[in-house]
Amino acid sequence: MRLLLNTPTPTRESSIDVKPFSVRLNLHGDLDFFLGSKADRRRLERSLSEKTSVKDVIESCGVPHPEVDLILVNGMPVDFDYGVMSDAEIELYPPGIGHPHFKEKRLQIATIGRFVADGHLGRLTRNLRLLGFDVAYDSQAQDRQLLAVMKHENRALLTRDRRLLMYAIVKTGYYPRSQNADEQTIEVIRRFDLLGSIAPFTRCLRCNAPLQKVAKADIIEKLEPLTKIYYEQFRRCTGCRQIYWAGSHFTKLQKRLGQIRINFGS
Ligand SMILES: [Zn+2]
Repeated sequence: MRLLLNTPTPTRESSIDVKPFSVRLNLHGDLDFFLGSKADRRRLERSLSEKTSVKDVIESCGVPHPEVDLILVNGMPVDFDYGVMSDAEIELYPPGIGHPHFKEKRLQIATIGRFVADGHLGRLTRNLRLLGFDVAYDSQAQDRQLLAVMKHENRALLTRDRRLLMYAIVKTGYYPRSQNADEQTIEVIRRFDLLGSIAPFTRCLRCNAPLQKVAKADIIEKLEPLTKIYYEQFRRCTGCRQIYWAGSHFTKLQKRLGQIRINFGS
C-alpha cells in the first residue's frame, strides 16, 4: 500500500506548453473565394499559441475543409487532423487543381453522383435531377437531418452554409460559388466530374425517384386532350407516379443541356 501511495501522479497531458508561433497559408485555385473581402490576398498569416489541427487552422480562415483536396505543411502532405505546433508554411489546393506530386495524398473524392442539398438549393436540385442525378432534398430539412442523410446514404453535401460544411462528419461536400442555379449546376458537374454521367429525363423532378418508360395506352386516361394528340412517348415516376412527356419539359431541358455543354466546350 505504501508503495502505491508513493507512485507519482501522472502529469496531465492536456497542458503541453507550446511557444507562440505563426503559420502562413497559401491558397491555390479558387480557394481565395472564401476570404470574401480579403479576396485579393492569397496569403494569410495566423498566430497560434497551442497545438491546433490543420483543419481548425484552415477553417478559422473561412475555408470549409471539404473544399481542400491537398494540404502541404512545410512541403509534406498531411491529413486534416495533423497538429500544427510550430512555425509552418501551409499550402492548400482545391480539387481539380493539378499538382505534380502527391496524387495519393488527395483528401477529397473526385467523383460522386449522389447528393443531399440544403433547403435553399431547390433550383439547383431540380436542375441536377433533370440531368438524371440523385439529389435528396427537403426544403424544411434541419442541419441535423441533412448530415444524417449525407452520412447514411453516402451522399455529398451541397450547401451555401459554410458552418454546416465545417462539421467534421462531412467527408464530401461543395459550396456553390454562384447564386444562380444554372451556374451552380455547371460548378457541381465540374467539381464532381459528372459530364459523362448526364442522363436527361431519367429522374423525377418532384421526388427524385427513377422514371420508367410507360406505354401511352396504359396512361391515356390520365392525359390532357392535347397531350393525348401530340405526344407518343411517356415516362412515369416509379415513386410518385407523375407522368412526363417530351413536351415543354424536354425543350427546356435541351436548352439547358446545350448551355452546359457550351461551358464544357463540347
Ligand atoms: Zn416522383
